[in-house]
Amino acid sequence: MKAAIMIKALGYAAKHSYSRLKPLEFEREEAQANEIEIEVLFCGVCHSDIHQVKNEWANTVYPCVPGHEIVGRVTRLGPGGTRHAVGDLVGVGCMIESCRHCDPCQSGDQNYCEGPNSWLSTYNGPMVPAAKAPNGGNMYGRDNTFGGYSDVIVVNEDFALKIPANLKPEVAAPILCAGATTYSPLKHWGVKRGDKVGVIGFGGLGDMAAKIAKAMGAQVTVFTTTTQKLEEATRLGIKGVLESDKEAMKELSSSFDFMLSTIPEKHDINPFIELLKRDSTLCIVGALEPMAGVNNAAVAFHRKRVAGSLIGNLADTQEVLDFCAEHSIGPDIEIIDIQDVDDAFKKVEKGDVRFRYVIDMASIKRDKSV
Ligand code: NDP
Repeated sequence: MKAAIMIKALGYAAKHSYSRLKPLEFEREEAQANEIEIEVLFCGVCHSDIHQVKNEWANTVYPCVPGHEIVGRVTRLGPGGTRHAVGDLVGVGCMIESCRHCDPCQSGDQNYCEGPNSWLSTYNGPMVPAAKAPNGGNMYGRDNTFGGYSDVIVVNEDFALKIPANLKPEVAAPILCAGATTYSPLKHWGVKRGDKVGVIGFGGLGDMAAKIAKAMGAQVTVFTTTTQKLEEATRLGIKGVLESDKEAMKELSSSFDFMLSTIPEKHDINPFIELLKRDSTLCIVGALEPMAGVNNAAVAFHRKRVAGSLIGNLADTQEVLDFCAEHSIGPDIEIIDIQDVDDAFKKVEKGDVRFRYVIDMASIKRDKSV
């Protein structure tokens, strides 16, 4: 078999759970059949990047080059590629491959791939690594993958989304994860015009959830722990409620058609279950970990549902990009250089960003001599 030709890449990587991100030179395989090479222009900073770098999900493969909110320009096509052309602006979200054969993949839910290694994550390798796979193998042949905090990425063309012409690339970047992760459950649970939707946690995902639900015609309320964000809610034309305001919470009892929690750690959802109408759903996307107990009396007495949801499939991700373009919505962003990413991580953890940092990857050129 012919050895793959390698291309040089430069990224920012964490080598341990406690280390800062530093420049790392590495190699990627040149675009193979149906793959495309992309020059990364912008990459969003998702709170998941922080969980992953710090090994908070106990599955991080080091070195860890994070980044799954990628927008870039196609610079080269592998043999047979037809979906994109050189020069196209494309996006890459959380997945770069899936088994394509299981029931979820066949029905377009690559994000729930039930293949032996599940889907291949844009960084950190397969969702189910060889050590945990039923056959002990790795169908993707790669134990680690490197994300968008880098100058170049190579992916299968099917996993690259088209960036609509009227979305700025830096604004489109967070839609690839924060947008898809919030759009998918809003769509799945059928949020429609006139519904009352509650968004819990007003950060990167919360900002997108609120804007998307509003554009769907819903009446949106955000629940926040940060007094200053009440003004941000007013600016968006939605209602803001402090989670600690017991009176306001009581007034909203049994009034929501759908709620989405984006809080990034385990939290008590019981006060929010109280706010759901009969037969309504509270979906948790934020905390991907064991949660405190639910009072099932409150759930059962009004046939409520507590659910979860994972990112978005490819169709939903394209749909949310197009939806944002059509409705002229997008995340509020602050552009940073890659050299400032550690500081940005700290600010995200403190909730000190409105609402998403996006890295201008041109800044990595300053590290070219490492
Ligand atoms: P951010 O940090 O940008 O926003 C989270 C917001 O939650 C904060 O701004 C804050 O809002 C609120 N918050 C933070 N800590 C607490 C706390 N202890 N108690 C109550 N509220 C809190 O994170 P992201 O929006 O980027 O991500 C949110 C979570 O979603 C992360 O855990 C991430 O890993 C996860 N995620 C899950 C995905 C999935 O597929 N299910 C996909 C992508 C991300 P406020 O100031 O308004 O209180």
